[in-house]
Amino acid sequence: MPPTYFRYLLPHNPTVDRELIYFPFWRFKGILYSCVNAGVVSRFVDSSQQAIKSTHFPFSAGIRPQVGKLTFATEKSKGRFLRPDIPYADAINLFKTSLARFVPKPIYHQSYIGEIVSLLYAPFYLSGRLFDAMQNKPVTSGIPDNLEDTLSRTEKIENRTRLFATICPACGWDLDGEKDAAVLICKNCQTAWQPTKKGFKKLPLICLTEMGRFKTSFPFWRIAADVDGVSMGSVADFRRLANISQPAEEKDTEARFHFWVPAFKVRPKMLLTLSRRLTVAQIPVNGDKKLPEGAMIPANLPVTEAAQTLKIVFAELVRPSRIYFPRLSQIQIVARQALLVYIPFNEDHHDYIQPKLNIGIGKKLLKLAENM
Ligand SMILES: [Zn+2]
Repeated sequence: MPPTYFRYLLPHNPTVDRELIYFPFWRFKGILYSCVNAGVVSRFVDSSQQAIKSTHFPFSAGIRPQVGKLTFATEKSKGRFLRPDIPYADAINLFKTSLARFVPKPIYHQSYIGEIVSLLYAPFYLSGRLFDAMQNKPVTSGIPDNLEDTLSRTEKIENRTRLFATICPACGWDLDGEKDAAVLICKNCQTAWQPTKKGFKKLPLICLTEMGRFKTSFPFWRIAADVDGVSMGSVADFRRLANISQPAEEKDTEARFHFWVPAFKVRPKMLLTLSRRLTVAQIPVNGDKKLPEGAMIPANLPVTEAAQTLKIVFAELVRPSRIYFPRLSQIQIVARQALLVYIPFNEDHHDYIQPKLNIGIGKKLLKLAENM
């Protein structure tokens, strides 16, 4: 099956009235986590590169995606669309190679999360020379001889974006969720749904009402995983690996160990901090098997992406890292089951606060994550 990715159009300058030529760029946008000798380092990445090898067009889309409003490319989009000749898999490898340059060696493990790759079409036009139609500026002097060859390889845009009828499969009510929602919720029958290729999949959920009855709830993924290469099935195993002493009042630690990862987008470091704090806490999930009553922070980090961070969370927790990091490539962590857990948070001017867990989330940080 061919990989699925979104195709976006960059806007053109409204004064341009020539036929638009859309040149494709692969865009990588996401968070790169790397395990290095100093620990786990994170980096937010938004970069692009040509999807057709050409000496006439810019090597990357530069800051165009940040300054121009993107729209989806559809079968109705007008213009000449040039066909990419650098395959998706090669593009990913190129990104990885170029990104690895910024990370100190040796690199024991890397994970990417976010919208991994999309195709961006930037508009150009011909008028004696090749012009950038976004800035309305020439990019070549004259028409290069072999340009026509590149321009002749075009393709038709097909509608690949799936449109879901956002109707609750259980009760027929309208589902709530924004366009980037990883979870859609039904306030009528108190259910949560994950959009998949085959339609909606029901997600088990719980609201930890024991954590206080506050106005705003944050979504988290509690993930049970199979860990191979190191023994980490129970909470006791985990505490040994993470060098955490067992609380004196607790006798039974044979309970199954779970990873915890935010189900909402936050800055890379915060994602790791929250994952670490909640995973260390291993809180029992007692509460109501329904949606929280107050406001809900939208769940926009899909469980599939959260699952990609598990090894990073593991690396962040195990001690000492100099023993475990070189073994990371032999350790397999596969997510098996996920539970969507809502945790109520209190708030003040600057932060959301969970007093029982002693966790704060800066409102500014949340705001910054909106365009990630
Ligand atoms: Zn419903």
